[in-house]
Amino acid sequence: MTAESPSIFSRIIDRELPADIVAETDDLIAIRDINPQAELHLLVIPKTGAYRDVTELADDPELLAKVVRLAADLAKQYADGQFRLVFNTGAEAGQSVFHVHAHVLAGATLDEGRLA
Ligand code: 5GP
Repeated sequence: MTAESPSIFSRIIDRELPADIVAETDDLIAIRDINPQAELHLLVIPKTGAYRDVTELADDPELLAKVVRLAADLAKQYADGQFRLVFNTGAEAGQSVFHVHAHVLAGATLDEGRLA
């Protein structure tokens, strides 16, 4: 895949690939992670593919704030409201999809040594 190819998340957003969608707004989509690492493991994903990671998303603080607010709403809806918000940033840090996304983790983690 080239850097210009649509990311797997863009293909989910465009309904080219299936996903368990738990929320959608004008700017964001939230899906269940296909390989959950906690009782609740959601991904909150900006629809735009313009930002590769959270450091780039910081250029759009309004959108970053929307990600945080939707994560909090979903943690209330699907768990007890307490959650970890993880942005893997860089391949060495575990990032595998270079379309910014937040992991929302709540409840018991499957592997306490790993964040996502
Ligand atoms: P990263 O490793 O980039 O921080 O996170 C990418 C996440 O996307 C991983 O937790 C992985 O399980 C999840 N993922 C990768 N492909 C798919 C997919 O096709 N559908 C869903 N729902 N999650 C995916």
